Formats: sequence, C-alpha cells, structure tokens
Amino acid sequence: MASIINGKNKRVGVIGAGPAGLTAAYELAKAGIAVEVFEASKYVGGLAKTISLWNQRVDTGPHRFFSDDTRVNKLWLEVVGKDYKIIDRLTRIFYKNKFYFYPLKPFNALFNLGIWESFICLISYFKEKIKPTKLDGSFETWVVNRFGRRLFEIFFKTYSEKLWGISCKDLDEDFAAQRIKKLSLLEAIKNAIFQKTDITHKTLADQFAYPIQGTGMVYERMADFINSHGGKVHLEKPVNRVVTKNKKVTGIELVGGEIKDYDHIISSMPITLLVNRLDEVPNEVKTVSESLKFRNTILVYLNIESQNLFPDNWLYVHSSDLKLGRITNFRNWVPELYGEEKSTIVALEYWCNDDEPLWSEKDNVLIDLGKKELAQAGLLKNSKVLDGYVYRISRCYPVYNRGYKGKLNLVESFLDSISGLTVIGRYGAFKYNNQDHSILMGLLAAENIIKSTRHDLWKINTDYETYQEASVITKTGLQKK
Ligand SMILES: Cc1cc2nc3c(=O)[nH]c(=O)nc-3n(C[C@H](O)[C@H](O)[C@H](O)COP(=O)(O)OP(=O)(O)OC[C@H]3O[C@@H](n4cnc5c(N)ncnc54)[C@H](O)[C@@H]3O)c2cc1C
Repeated sequence: MASIINGKNKRVGVIGAGPAGLTAAYELAKAGIAVEVFEASKYVGGLAKTISLWNQRVDTGPHRFFSDDTRVNKLWLEVVGKDYKIIDRLTRIFYKNKFYFYPLKPFNALFNLGIWESFICLISYFKEKIKPTKLDGSFETWVVNRFGRRLFEIFFKTYSEKLWGISCKDLDEDFAAQRIKKLSLLEAIKNAIFQKTDITHKTLADQFAYPIQGTGMVYERMADFINSHGGKVHLEKPVNRVVTKNKKVTGIELVGGEIKDYDHIISSMPITLLVNRLDEVPNEVKTVSESLKFRNTILVYLNIESQNLFPDNWLYVHSSDLKLGRITNFRNWVPELYGEEKSTIVALEYWCNDDEPLWSEKDNVLIDLGKKELAQAGLLKNSKVLDGYVYRISRCYPVYNRGYKGKLNLVESFLDSISGLTVIGRYGAFKYNNQDHSILMGLLAAENIIKSTRHDLWKINTDYETYQEASVITKTGLQKK
C-alpha cells in the first residue's frame, strides 16, 4: 500500500471500530501514537460485536475464532487473557430433514444419503477423476472438479446460491479457494477411516477458542485499552469522506460537516463509499468501484422457552424449501452467555440484496417467518417463542462475482496512489475476511506506520503465505505447530 509515515508525532485517524480498525488503533496506542477511531454505530466490534438481548449475550451470527498465524493468536491472547474457553465444535448441515456433520463425515453422509444416492455420488466423483470438468474460473467448476457434480448439487449449490444470490456459475472460484481450500473427499474418507487427529486443514478444525463474554469482548477490551492509553474511540460518529489535497490525505469529514485533520487515515468503511466520496477519482475507477456488490444479512433472533432445542453451535440450512440459511444456537457456546436465564436464543440468518422485498420487510413479518421456518424444520419442537428481534446488516458479504478481481485491482491501484491512506477490513478492502484476516490487516497496517514496513495488505486473505510461524490456541495458551 502507498505512503508510509513514520514517527510518533503523526496524527492517525481510523474509520470503523470493527476488528480491523480496532486492531490497528490498539497497536498504534501501544506504540504511543495518539490515535482516534470514528465508529458509525453505538457499538464496537463491527460484525463481530456482542450485544445484550433478553438478559443474555449474543453475537451477530456464529463467530468461531480460528487462526494459525502466531501474530494473530498472540494478540488475541494478549487481549483475552485467560477469559476464554475451548469449545468442541458441533455444526451440521440440515438437508431434506436430515443432519449431516460438517465438516462431512463419510459414514454419516453414507447413512443419511442411503446406499443408492451414495453410489451415485461416488460414480460422479470418480467420473471427475477420470475426465475432470474443465475449470473456467467459476465456483461451480472448481467444486465439481474436486468433489463430483452430485456432491456439488447436494452440499454446495443450494447453500451457496442462497448466500450469494447468484448462480454458482457466476461466483468466482476464489470463494472456494479461500473457504474450502485443500479439502478433498479422499482426505475426509481417510480421516474417517483412520480417525486422524492431526488437524491438517482449516475446514476440519473441530475445536476453537471463544471469549467467555462473547466474541465482542475482544473488541470491547481493545477499545478500553485505546481510550486509556492516549487514544479515543468515538461512537456514533460516522465518517462521510476522507479529505485529500493533491493526492495526499489531509483528514476526514464527519457526517454533519466537521473536518478533522490527520496525516494518515486507516479506513475500514465500505470501499465503494470510500472511493465514491473521494476527490479526483478517475471515471473508470468510479464505474468499476460501483460495480462491486455486497450482499446483506437479516438476523432474526428468537427467544425460545426451551433449553435443549438442538445440540449444535450452528446449523447450515441447505434445504431449498426454507429461505433461512443458517441458525446459531447461543445456548451451546459458553454458559456465561446465558447466565441464569432458562430460555434459548437462536439467530436465523436470511441473505438478500437491497432491491429484494425481504430487505424492506417489516420486523413482525420477519419474526413470523423465522418462527414458521423453525417449526417447519422440526427444530421448534412445540416450544413457545417468547419474543423476537430483527437486526439488519447492510453490505455484509463482498460478492465475488466472476471477474471481480480485475475490477478490484484497478480500485486498489488508485487507492495506493493516495499518500497517507491505508485501506483494510472486510468491506473496507472487499475481502471475504474472517476476524483473523481483519485482525492481521489491522496489525500490519499499524506496523507499516510504526516501523515503516511495506506489507502489502491487499494480499491478505488472497495469497498471503509468507509468514511461516504457525500456532493454535489451546486451553493452556499458545501452542506452536
Ligand atoms: C453472520 C456472520 C458470521 C460470521 N462468522 C464468523 C466466524 O465464525 N469467524 C470469524 O472469524 N468471522 C466471522 N464473521 C466475520 C467477521 O465478523 C468479520 O470478518 C469481521 O467483523 C470483519 O472486521 P472488519 O473490521 O474488517 O469489518 P466490520 O466488522 O464490518 O467493521 C467495520 C466497522 O466500520 C464501521 N463503519 C462503516 N462505515 C463507517 C463510516 N462511514 N464511518 C464510521 N464507521 C463506519 C461499521 O459500523 C463497523 O463497526 C462472520 C460475520 C457474519 C456477519
């Protein structure tokens, strides 16, 4: 990224108090830089916040923290201390009224699918091995080529199309490369037969560390640290635009018009809005940036009079007769989340675009939809729904349409040409980040300012493989791999 400014005297402003922005500010505050963070909402934590609801603590959907990058794990432990528990992950796919373990367990899949369907899946898999489908850059050919068409149709197609709102033919293979990585059917079968305990692949990880007060605890603590070490986290202060002069950052303009002067801005606000509101943006960059699309999420929280609805941390809902895509059961994370309460809070995720009727549907209609679908899936078990709450997240997922990368590269080059500007984060940098990726972006953005390093932050969560020191967080702390 462009323009590294060195030294403690520099004035640094950060846009957004999500994991990326707060990590950057936390590191800058540690280095003695008086950083200021501007957050649009009244909470810190961004998509990874934890809110209080019906006397319990809940995240915005399921938030499993997982990283094998030692820098990220060290920082997480530094903030969380001993206030975390290791959770045994149980997540399953709900498809045609049956539950399939995810990551897939071949014997469970075989049992659920039945002999005939399993046989067809295997034939379709071996057909691919003999005559592989030609890769055309799409998610569909990537998955079919790896798992066979039948498994693609059962385990990937409906869910991915619900999530992204486009055909798997139009979805870029980057999504698969980032999220499914090297998982293969043969690896899964080998693991099942030989009970392999060595976790060699990300999507096979079956334990994770979780803060006892919810995911957002990490970011609440970071904000407290910043506020008590010379910095300031301003809530409910949305930034309208980054102000530049002769392609150099001079500050930010808050919504309402107030201008704040800075030498360096770290932005995690949506990249499309950032570009759109900058001065001197070439038309081509503006047009391309406007064509980058995001998908929204609606979370329908239900408070249910039951303590054992289902045992999973979350369920993926592949059945195409249900609109909902994922259900989180917060009673199955850590008891500290629900305390003395006897009810269970679940969050149902619905995905849609701005122009879909669901996005502007009234809260009570969405709550009724949630109740109806939970009952239809057989998960409500005649339990009483005590209350409902709707939380809408605009621009939740950057959509990897085929060919998006070329467009993004153009936007990246333009933003790199502005001195004093660093762009990070999930919608900030248009990367389908988990917390760990955003934390790493924040860490390295701060390092670029503090130590004048030149980390290329655009590469994180794409092809950033240079750091070799791997570790995992266990009950007792950090363990090197
Ligand atoms: C349903 C769901 C499930 C997830 N599950 C997991 C999981 O299991 N594991 C995992 O690691 N990650 C998970 N994630 C992803 C994780 O939440 C994100 O990767 C992470 O929060 C991204 O951090 P960020 O700082 O890049 O962006 P964000 O969290 O989006 O933070 C950006 C912040 O900027 C603020 N902002 C935006 N515009 C402005 C403006 N103009 N002015 C001021 N502030 C502004 C926003 O209000 C927000 O607080 C999940 C996300 C969702 C939605």
